[in-house]
Amino acid sequence: PFDVLVVGGGPAGASAAIYAARKGIRTGVVADRFGGQVLDTAGIENFISVPETEGPKLATQLEQHVLSYEVDIMKPQTAAELVPGELFEVKLASGATLQSRSVILSTGARWRQMNVPGEAEYRNRGVAYCPHCDGPLYKGKHVAVIGGGNSGVEAAIDLAGIVSHVTLIEFDGQLRADAVLQSKLRSLGNVTIITSAQTTEVVGDGKKVTGLKYLDRTSDEMHDIALEGVFVQIGLIPNTDWLKGVVDLTPRGEIITDERGQTSLPGVFAAGDVTTVPYKQIVIAMGEGATASLGAFDHLIRTSAP
Ligand code: FAD
Repeated sequence: PFDVLVVGGGPAGASAAIYAARKGIRTGVVADRFGGQVLDTAGIENFISVPETEGPKLATQLEQHVLSYEVDIMKPQTAAELVPGELFEVKLASGATLQSRSVILSTGARWRQMNVPGEAEYRNRGVAYCPHCDGPLYKGKHVAVIGGGNSGVEAAIDLAGIVSHVTLIEFDGQLRADAVLQSKLRSLGNVTIITSAQTTEVVGDGKKVTGLKYLDRTSDEMHDIALEGVFVQIGLIPNTDWLKGVVDLTPRGEIITDERGQTSLPGVFAAGDVTTVPYKQIVIAMGEGATASLGAFDHLIRTSAP
């Protein structure tokens, strides 16, 4: 059996694996792919001490750093079930079962997509999901934010300070964000709010985004907006379907952790975008991975091997 079994090979999992392996304990990583969301990212400019890098390059470096230690990376493998016990069992979709004295869950999250024509085609070429990451790329430009919940309105307020104009598009008849955020948004001079609007297409010139189309749901009329960026903010879905009923989750499906990364199940830790950590960033996920790993090590030295 492993001492620490990490599930998920993104920045949080890579960091957790390195911290565990450096303690000289048996460490494994189960990953459907190595790098996580970083693999889907074009430029990264906020990974502190590395002014500029690219997602696939950082993903390779993450894996190489992990492989420089004695870590058993099992990929491509998907964990399908976590069974509590004196030794935890992680059952894989392939049918195999792994055993470990502690488990670190770092299965990340995924942005909910609009699923309209042009969205996938122009991803990273005008379609963005992370204002903290990509906002500065749109300095002085016109962008749309899709979604009028808290994350959409926060994104619109954030972007309004950088870009020339923000058009916020909400499907519903009204915004759903907290009142204080809505009034802040309405106080800004370079923001237009459009409600009852269904985005139907992201339009581009073959290279980058040039606009979007939406349906006015009250009049049934189609409209075009010329713009250079579309920030989709309609939800971040944690990858926790397989953990329901095993560890405590919030109503949104995030794993609840304490300051050591401990979940509701002693010996099971979690880190990164899959948890309740409020900000979802590479540098934060890595810090959380280190915390969870040190938390797991603390747990192991207080329990005897079965
Ligand atoms: P993830 O990166 O999501 O990794 C988790 C991995 O576990 C995934 O590969 C997932 O498929 C896998 N997994 C899930 N379930 C299972 C299972 N059951 N079994 C096995 N494996 C499983 N952050 C920044 O700091 N700067 C940026 O510039 C930036 N740009 C971004 C651009 C885009 C397009 C996106 C999508 C995100 C961006 N982010 C950026 C956010 C950043 O990528 C995430 O915060 C970070 O990757 C989270 O790391 P993680 O390890 O928690 O999860």
